[in-house]
Amino acid sequence: MRILVIGSGGREHALAWKLAQSPHVTEMWCAPGNGGIQQERIPSSQEPIQCVNIGAEDLPRLLAFAQEKKIDLTVVGPDNPLAMGIVDWFENNGLRIWGVNRKAAQFEASKVFSQRFMETYGIPTPAAGTFADATSAKHFAAKLGGKCAVKADGLALGKGVLICANEGEANRAIDEIMVSKSFGDAGARIVIQEFLEGIEVSLHVLCDGTTAELFPTSQDHKRALDGDAGLNTGGMGTYSPTPFLTDEELAQTGSAIVTPWLRGCAAEGIDYRGILYPGVMLTSSGPRVLEFNARFGDPETQVYMMRLENDLLELLEASATGMLHGTTMSWSPMASVCVVMASGGYPGSYSKGKEITGLAEAAAIPNVKVFHAGTTMVDGKLVTSGGRVLGVTALGKDLKSAQTTAYAAVEKIHFEGAQFRRDIGSKAL
Ligand code: AMP
Repeated sequence: MRILVIGSGGREHALAWKLAQSPHVTEMWCAPGNGGIQQERIPSSQEPIQCVNIGAEDLPRLLAFAQEKKIDLTVVGPDNPLAMGIVDWFENNGLRIWGVNRKAAQFEASKVFSQRFMETYGIPTPAAGTFADATSAKHFAAKLGGKCAVKADGLALGKGVLICANEGEANRAIDEIMVSKSFGDAGARIVIQEFLEGIEVSLHVLCDGTTAELFPTSQDHKRALDGDAGLNTGGMGTYSPTPFLTDEELAQTGSAIVTPWLRGCAAEGIDYRGILYPGVMLTSSGPRVLEFNARFGDPETQVYMMRLENDLLELLEASATGMLHGTTMSWSPMASVCVVMASGGYPGSYSKGKEITGLAEAAAIPNVKVFHAGTTMVDGKLVTSGGRVLGVTALGKDLKSAQTTAYAAVEKIHFEGAQFRRDIGSKAL
């Protein structure tokens, strides 16, 4: 089969690497891909994965490319093309594609939609209100004593959530989003949730419209610095599984969320074929969904692809064709840790073009895979080209050994200004 993967981050490298292991795959392209993806080969054919310079949001060129290359299945990584309706577009043109359609992508593209959906169908979520004007929003925030999360409705590059500790902060956050319009139209409406304390975990659920299969747990590290200090980032590392939910608790939590969610999708005519990724807070009064994402997490995907024992292509095809009920997902009992190495200054401004060395030495360590995110090849040299540069990922017999191996690999890799957390996975140890 001829496969096209859309996206350019660590998530897409992990998906492409895992898809390439499927014996069904003969040729693969990635648009636009990155410096690591272009070094991958398909094990069965020894063909390289070819990166093509088409942006993930350039829907007309992606469609033309898929038609020209007679792609059998396109796999979409990032949220934006899904929210733009790439799946509807490809399908209307007779092409097979994996990912959620535009209506289903609303779970991520609109926090107002998600919040109302959760409340309508009884999915556990924080107490919340949705607002289209600043005055009533401030009134609601005041009733919470200002301890709240103020969220822009639309996609805001992961920056549209402002956590507030008092009324003054809440009022400033509301003004920033609704009056100063810092996130543009994405902030025309907002959700305000009560602030919850607890442990956050990432859940992933593969869906085919009617069946939903739960992944093991993982945990992201959103803040830039050790001990969860510093600014929010796209994610500085992950590990899986987490010890915070036993298998039984995970099954209970999954069904408390997924059963009403499936019922709601059926009631609203949402044909959800793709990944549902709820961000969940485990509180003293039970799990609460903070938000839904409608695609694989990054860097959660990196640890999941290391542990997944199934043929990923077969799973995604089953998801796209409504055939998931016949499949069982199988996960390695080993633990996995992914440490993100970022450019100095990230998530603020940073420079690019720094040469990366030591990758071969890192890759020579057993049970290590280095996924690339912001890298590119220039004159035969691999250089940095983004904020998050690499996801250094390891498997181990337990979390401690996966962590030790991941950091041993990190120590081998060098680029000027490299910045990474030294405590990925430590919360669980
Ligand atoms: P979201 O994009 O909605 O998941 O929010 C980004 C981050 O903000 C989450 O990963 C949490 O760490 C934090 N957050 C969001 N909502 C809440 C809430 N209601 N209470 C506490 N923290 C929250």
